[in-house]
Amino acid sequence: MQLEIQELTKNYKNKQALRGITLNLVPGIYGILGPNGAGKSTLMNILTGNLSQSGGRILLDGEDIRAMGSNYHSRLGYCPQQHTFYPSFSAEQFLFYISSLQGLSRKKAMERIDWVLDLFELSDVRRKPIYSLSGGMKQRLLIAQSLIHDPDILILDEPTSGLDPQQRIAVRNLIGEIAPKKIVLISTHVVQDVEYIARELILLSNGQVIRKAT
Ligand code: ADP
Repeated sequence: MQLEIQELTKNYKNKQALRGITLNLVPGIYGILGPNGAGKSTLMNILTGNLSQSGGRILLDGEDIRAMGSNYHSRLGYCPQQHTFYPSFSAEQFLFYISSLQGLSRKKAMERIDWVLDLFELSDVRRKPIYSLSGGMKQRLLIAQSLIHDPDILILDEPTSGLDPQQRIAVRNLIGEIAPKKIVLISTHVVQDVEYIARELILLSNGQVIRKAT
């Protein structure tokens, strides 16, 4: 599996947010680091199809992701930065909802929900309404939903924000465990969250890759 980002540019009205990003990604974890305004969210939003680019292409195994449509989206998991929940849903209802959007059968959904709840230590609160969960639990639930359909490509936008130091380590280790066969992109400004698990760190500044390093 190979995800190629070729000469990607994005212009907002007066602002050039991405200035020709070229990256070749294979299975493994990539940390996208950079200060606020560097272009991390813009890059991730183009990769998830929430935004369209101004120029350049993204190819998955040689095929343009814009032409792939749902064949691409069904292989993609996304953990956004903002919490996007229906607060009165229980954790389990929310995961069922996401499973149905992903087209999983009821049986498959139940298996996967049990698996992610266990993995993220949320089994005890599975029937509690989301509004009653702690910030750390909500954050874990948000990451859990991105994995429900076992995606090949996982995009995690600041996945450890709002977690305490112990939870950060736990989430970091979990991502390390589930990642080997996936292309995982993690944006963060906390270097320690990715330095041990990432195969490569990609430093973005002002819409450009200024450095790549192991
Ligand atoms: P990061 O995620 O690294 O903080 P962003 O991708 O959010 O960076 O932003 C990159 C640049 O694009 C910033 O200068 C930001 O102000 C600008 N930008 C982001 N979104 C918009 C928008 N919708 N309209 C205009 N400018 C934007």
